[in-house]
Amino acid sequence: HSGVLAGKKGLILGIANNRSIAYGIAKACREAGAELALTYQAEVLEKRVRPLAAELGAHVVGRCDVAETETIDAVFAEVERLWGKLDFLVHCLAYSDRDQLNGRYVDTTADNFTQSLLISCYSFTALAQRAEKLMTDGGSMLTLTYYGAEKWMPHYNVMGVAKAALEASVRYLAADLGEKNIRVNAISAGPIKTAAASGIGDFRYILRWNEYNAPMRRVVTIEEVGESAVYLLSPMSRGVTGEILHVDAGYHVVGMMHPAAAPK
Ligand code: NAD
Repeated sequence: HSGVLAGKKGLILGIANNRSIAYGIAKACREAGAELALTYQAEVLEKRVRPLAAELGAHVVGRCDVAETETIDAVFAEVERLWGKLDFLVHCLAYSDRDQLNGRYVDTTADNFTQSLLISCYSFTALAQRAEKLMTDGGSMLTLTYYGAEKWMPHYNVMGVAKAALEASVRYLAADLGEKNIRVNAISAGPIKTAAASGIGDFRYILRWNEYNAPMRRVVTIEEVGESAVYLLSPMSRGVTGEILHVDAGYHVVGMMHPAAAPK
């Protein structure tokens, strides 16, 4: 994929460390020739993001906590000052109270529901509003979702509801922005051991279940998600919008475990 993003400028939110899916995406975009701008959610994460940015030759455009609108505005002001335009946007973040990523969805509180939907779903729309203004030559926006949006998954709870809303918002944003040649898509990634994922109850079991059941009999890596992201962010996918691309070793097509895969 070398060079398919040459000359493109992209803003990527969601790097916490070198296991973050956002880092896999940033690395693949860099290898494809893009120039990158990164943010960090909180001061404690800045010291991890700065060295990764240096390694990627990326700009750090400031702290952005999507629950604080002023920090979103400040980051877009910095991107505008830096480049005056934007070609792609990657939204790779989510949040729910850890205590509610265990047990039953029916016990979700109103406060956690509101906060989870605000951070995990609405923030993509908030970013899209600002990115639209800078995508004067068209553009591509990408978010990250999970199969728990489509089917019940143990412990995923309010995140499943938030991801369902996020996937619907991909379709609505795609329809709103298509005329401006701005495309909006999502990657539905299979389970990957990251900081966010380790907050989900029985996550190791979920990884093992995917290894038993996915057609490819394995889970995916952040490098694989990154390279699929390059496709959606580059002109290679110029006819694609409103799409949810499953990068999950095929897990989503399976209706039943293959008898040969069943643990003895
Ligand atoms: P991660 O912990 O590395 O990244 C999560 C990021 O969200 C962190 O950088 C964190 O700082 C950021 N974040 C949380 N609240 C925020 C806020 N208020 N403002 C700004 N940033 C905030 O974990 P990850 O697994 O790489 O998660 C990235 C995305 O991928 C999430 O949307 C997640 O739901 C999605 N996803 C993950 C998996 C998986 O198995 N890991 C599978 C499918 C989808």
